[in-house]
Amino acid sequence: MKKYDLIVIGAGPAGMTSALYASRADLSVLLLDRGVYGGQMNNTSAIENYPGFESILGPDLSKKMYKSATKFDAEYAYGTVQSVDNNGKIKIVHTDNGDFETGAIIIATGSKNKELGVPGEKEYSGRGVSYCAVCDGAFFKNKRVVVVGGGDSAIQESIYLSQLASEVIVIHRRDQLRAQKILQEQAFKNDKIKFVWNSNVKEILGDQMKVTGVKVLNNKTNQEHVIDASGVFIYVGNLPMTEQFKDLSITDEKGWIKANDQMETKIPGIFAAGDVREKQLRQIVTSTGDGGIAGQNAFSYLQTLK
Ligand code: NAP
Repeated sequence: MKKYDLIVIGAGPAGMTSALYASRADLSVLLLDRGVYGGQMNNTSAIENYPGFESILGPDLSKKMYKSATKFDAEYAYGTVQSVDNNGKIKIVHTDNGDFETGAIIIATGSKNKELGVPGEKEYSGRGVSYCAVCDGAFFKNKRVVVVGGGDSAIQESIYLSQLASEVIVIHRRDQLRAQKILQEQAFKNDKIKFVWNSNVKEILGDQMKVTGVKVLNNKTNQEHVIDASGVFIYVGNLPMTEQFKDLSITDEKGWIKANDQMETKIPGIFAAGDVREKQLRQIVTSTGDGGIAGQNAFSYLQTLK
């Protein structure tokens, strides 16, 4: 079984920064991800709140972080983690690509998009229903699209989509957005973005082949109406990706991992960093901050085992 000082699970901004700090401290590091590095940054358009960049595309920032993460010889490998065995000083990470032995683990698996859970969502996924404007926006050039949600993601990606689509209709269940004020202001002054307030999408409609619109219920007036659209972009929040760690009992009731400000979980040698943590502010900058602390503390923990 291949051995590493540290295994970092998840190669988003938290995982990549963990790998950078730990490998720079001369630990042997395996950075594992089930897909391409970058995490949710790959689904993000312009990033304007990561210091040092006035504005940078998510996939471009991912590439830059990956270069930093692997600069000090951290290994990057594909692998879906199935479970983790904690045997004190020795921990085993089981993946679909084999098992690995390590002294410490940083869990940085982040979160995934929450589904709306309405009829038509699954049926038309990839045929008009999308969770990624950067990936799929180009299919809707000069067409009308709907965005569901009122948080940072919904509003940031509505602004991005407005550069492609003929019209962007944001459907939000309340009459106030959750998104940061600066994003709200940009959206409100954008002629192509319209808002449908106090409304829930009840169904995504289509012609068997592709999306044709959404059925919407106004939760104040109880009136239903149909909005014609070619695309439906869903941004209604995130769920933690911690299913494979449930046997470790380190999550809260919603599945977020509990870690202190040193990124330590209750299990010595198992750290958590980034969006997967139970925390208030989920941002790239807070993920990289978590990653630096976790990488450094994994190093300190391993010193205590010597
Ligand atoms: P979020 O902040 O949890 O917002 C989810 C939105 O979806 C809320 O407006 C919520 O409505 C709505 N919603 C939730 N469940 C719904 C349902 N079943 N039906 C209809 N609407 C529903 O999620 P997010 O926007 O994906 O952001 C996730 C995290 O990433 C946040 O911490 C955010 O700050 C961060 N982020 C930051 C940036 C940035 O800094 N530029 C960009 C993207 C994301 P209510 O408001 O009524 O609850």
